[in-house]
Amino acid sequence: MNARWETGTANAHHVVVLGAGYAGMAAAVQLAARVKRRGGVRVTVVNAQERFTERMRLHMTATGQRLAGLSVPELLEGTGARFVRGWVTAVDADARTVRIDDDRVLPYDTLVYGLGGAADTSAVPGAEDHAYTLDGAQDAELLADRLARLGGGTVVVAGSGLTGTESAAEIAERHPELDVVLLGRTEPGADMSPKAKAYLHAALDRLGVRVRAGVEVAKVLPGAVELAGGETVAADAVLWTSGTRTSPLAAAAGLAVDERGRIVTDAALRSVSHPEVYAIGDAAAVRQGYGVMHGTCQGGMPTGVHAALSIDRVLRGKQPKPFRFGYYHTPVSLGRGDAVVQFTRPDGSPRRIRLTGRAAVRYKETVTASPWPTYGRMKKMPASGAFWPRGGRFTRVREAR
Ligand SMILES: Cc1cc2nc3c(=O)[nH]c(=O)nc-3n(C[C@H](O)[C@H](O)[C@H](O)COP(=O)(O)OP(=O)(O)OC[C@H]3O[C@@H](n4cnc5c(N)ncnc54)[C@H](O)[C@@H]3O)c2cc1C
Repeated sequence: MNARWETGTANAHHVVVLGAGYAGMAAAVQLAARVKRRGGVRVTVVNAQERFTERMRLHMTATGQRLAGLSVPELLEGTGARFVRGWVTAVDADARTVRIDDDRVLPYDTLVYGLGGAADTSAVPGAEDHAYTLDGAQDAELLADRLARLGGGTVVVAGSGLTGTESAAEIAERHPELDVVLLGRTEPGADMSPKAKAYLHAALDRLGVRVRAGVEVAKVLPGAVELAGGETVAADAVLWTSGTRTSPLAAAAGLAVDERGRIVTDAALRSVSHPEVYAIGDAAAVRQGYGVMHGTCQGGMPTGVHAALSIDRVLRGKQPKPFRFGYYHTPVSLGRGDAVVQFTRPDGSPRRIRLTGRAAVRYKETVTASPWPTYGRMKKMPASGAFWPRGGRFTRVREAR
C-alpha cells in the first residue's frame, strides 16, 4: 500500500536530506541548528541505516576491525530534524516527492541529495558478480569474512587509487598469510610528490604488497582476473576499488547529471535543471576553477554545510553565495602503524611538505575521527562548521556557465 506521509505543519517548508553520510549529516545538522529557533522549516533525513557509515574506515572493517557504533538518530536528537530509516527507490522531481522502500512517499519543498557514490563495478565484465567492494559496511564485512576464512592464497586489489592503496596495505598488515597484489593503470600515489610517493612505495614493499602498475583489468572471473592482453592473475578474492559511479536515481528523476551520474550544480550547489534540489558530496558534480571536484570527505562536508547555508539564505529572501573549496591534504594510511600525508595546493597538486610515519598516523587518525565531533559542535554552534579553505585564485570559476 502506498502511503503519502504528512509533513506536519501544513505551512512549514519541508527540507528532505537524502543520505546521512559525511555530506548529508553536515547539511542536516547545519540546517536544523540554524532554523530551529526560527520555526517554519522542517528537516527530515532519510538514510538506509541508523548507524553512521564511516566510509573512510571501511578498509578497517574489511580486515575485521571493529568500529565505534555511531547512531544517526541519536546525533540528530535535539536538532528538531526527523530521521527516517529506509532505502530511497525513486525521486519524482515534478511532483517533488521521494519514494522510500517502494511503498512510502515523502513530499518535499527543497531536496538535498547526498546519496554518495560507489566503486564502478560496471566497468568490466564479472566485477559486479565476482568482486568485493567497500561501498558500504555490509560489503566490507563480507570481504572481512572471506579474508578471515582463506588462511592463505592471493587477494587482488583492483584499482591503485587511494582507496585501493589503503586497502592493500591494510589487508597485507592484518593478513600476513595472504599474498596481496595491487593492480592499476597508474602507480600508487601517482599524484604525490616524488618523496611522498617513494615513502608510500617503500611501505607497500615492506608490507609485502606486490604492485603491478600500468595494467588494465579486462575481466573478473571466478578465481582470477584477466588483464588486457589475456594474462590471468589467480585470485582467491578480488576487491574492486576502481572508478566511481553514483546511484541512477538522479538521472531517472530527470535531473541534469554528468557522465558519472553526478548531479550538475550551479555555483550555489543547486541542480542546474531543478533549483529546488541541492546536490552535495560524492553525488554532486561541483565545478571549481581547477575543474570538477573529486569525491572526498574533505570537500564533501563543506558542500553539505554550504547547501544548508544557501537554503537558509533563500528561505530568508536572500541570494545564496557561490561555493568555493580548495584541497589542502591527501592523507593515506599504510596499515595501522604507518601513513603518509601529502599537503597540497587548492587544486590538489602536491606541495613539497609532507608527513610520514607516526606523525602521519596521528594526523590521519585525527582527520578520520573529526567529522562526528564536528557535527556535535555544529548542533550548538552552527558557525563552527562553516570554516574551510576557499582556495583563493585556484577556485575562481572564470568561464561563463
Ligand atoms: C577506504 C576509504 C578511505 C577514504 N579515505 C578518505 C580520506 O582519507 N579523506 C577523504 O577526504 N575522503 C576519503 N574517502 C572518500 C570519502 O569516504 C567519500 O568521499 C565520502 O564518504 C563522501 O561522502 P558522502 O556523504 O557524499 O557519501 P557517503 O559517505 O557514501 O554517504 C552516503 C549515504 O547515503 C546512503 N545511501 C546511499 N544510497 C541510498 C539510498 N538509495 N537510500 C538510502 N540511503 C542511501 C548510504 O548508506 C550512506 O549513508 C575514503 C573512502 C574510502 C572508501
